[in-house]
Amino acid sequence: MKSDPGSRRRLCVIGDPISHSLSPVLQSFLIEHFDLPFTYEAVRVVPNELPAFVEKLRAGEFAGASVTLPHKQAVMPLLEECSPTARHIGAVNTIVPEGGLLHGHNTDAAGFLRAAQAAQIDFKNQKVLLLGAGGAAKAVLHVLREQGAGAIHICNRDLARAEKWLAAGAQESQKELHLVEWEKREQWLQAGPVNVIINATSAGMPPQREISPLPAAALRKDLAVIDLIYNPPETLLLQEAKKAGARVLNGLPMLIHQGVAAMELWSGQKLDIGGIHAEIEKELLAAYRARTI
Ligand code: NDP
Repeated sequence: MKSDPGSRRRLCVIGDPISHSLSPVLQSFLIEHFDLPFTYEAVRVVPNELPAFVEKLRAGEFAGASVTLPHKQAVMPLLEECSPTARHIGAVNTIVPEGGLLHGHNTDAAGFLRAAQAAQIDFKNQKVLLLGAGGAAKAVLHVLREQGAGAIHICNRDLARAEKWLAAGAQESQKELHLVEWEKREQWLQAGPVNVIINATSAGMPPQREISPLPAAALRKDLAVIDLIYNPPETLLLQEAKKAGARVLNGLPMLIHQGVAAMELWSGQKLDIGGIHAEIEKELLAAYRARTI
C-alpha cells in the first residue's frame, strides 16, 4: 500500500541558482520507487537568506535539505554538528534535522566511492592524478586517502590554491601527496606513471564545454579516466580518453550515489539501487536533455 500523500514531509535542495539542479528529478524518482514519505523540491536561497532558511529547517518546516553552490561551506557554522567527513572535506551537502538540532553531512565522498566501486575501479596502491582543488577535489582526495591510494598527484590551474589547501591539511600525513604544475602536466604525464586520472575541475562543462583539462596526447589505453562532470554526460576529456582506449567513468553515477546516500540519511533506511541504476540514469539524461533544448 502506498504511503498517504497528505502525511508526506518536505525535503528540498537549496542553492543559487537552483533551477538547473537535477536533484529534484533524482530524489522524486527515489521517493516514488521506494514509497518514501517525502516530497522534494528546489528552493532558491540567495546568500543573505541562508540563516533564515536554516531557522525554518530547525523549526521543522522541512525534514531535511540538500545544499549546493554557493552554500556548502557557508552553512557549516550555522549547524549544531558536522560529521567528521564533512569537517575533513570542509563542506556540507546534506542537512539532517534531529530533535531540533541540525547535523551536516557530506555525501559527495560516499557518492564518489560507490560510483568507482560499481565501475570496479579500485584505488588501493594506485598512482593517481587529481585535477582540481575545489570542493569536489577535496571529497575525492578524502576517498583516495581512505582507500589507500598510492602516490596522489594534485594539479590545479591556480597552483597557490592547491598549495594553500595542502598546507591547511599539514597536520595530516603528507606522505605520497605531490603537486604538479598545471603548465607542465602533459610533459609530466608522459614521464610520470599514473593509473588513474580524475577530473574534478569544471573544464568541460558549460560554458567551458569545448575545453578539456588534458591534451589528447596525454591519454593512454592503460588508464582509468574519471570525469566528475555529468553535464554533458560525455565531456571532451572522456571522448578523447575513450578514443585512446582508456576505461572511462562520467559524473552521473557519483551524482546518483551521493543523492542516494543523502536519502538514506533522511529516511534511515538502506536503499538498494542495483536494479534501477540504469533507469535512474535514463531519467536524469532525459531531464538534462529537456533542459538543454
Ligand atoms: P569549484 O568551483 O570549487 O572548483 C572548480 C575547479 O575547477 C577549480 O579547481 C578550478 O581551478 C578548476 N577550473 C575551472 N575552470 C578551469 C579551466 N578552464 N581549466 C582548468 N581548471 C579549471 O567547483 P567544484 O569543486 O564544486 O566542482 C568541480 C566539478 O565537479 C564541476 O564540474 C562539478 O559539476 C563537478 N561535481 C560533480 C559532482 C557529481 O556528483 N558528479 C559533485 C560535485 C562536483 P582554479 O582553482 O585554477 O580556478
